[in-house]
Amino acid sequence: MDMTPELVQEMAEQEEVADYVGDEIVEKRLSICKKCPRLIGGMTCADCGCFVQFRVRHKTAACINGKW
Ligand code: SF4
Repeated sequence: MDMTPELVQEMAEQEEVADYVGDEIVEKRLSICKKCPRLIGGMTCADCGCFVQFRVRHKTAACINGKW
């Protein structure tokens, strides 16, 4: 299966998250990632290796470079 940012987003939204940070902060974090030169293909952070659409949803998560 070819991963796309849209597909990753859809999968992330279906995942149960115990420490969900809330829609507003998710959107804010994603907008920062989308402008970041370290984001590959609109979904993978080159520095931590994660799919950002998943990572941004957790209260305890943080950008590895301190951007959010
Ligand atoms: S997590 Fe941080 S370093 Fe990675 S893409 Fe997002 S803003 Fe950039």
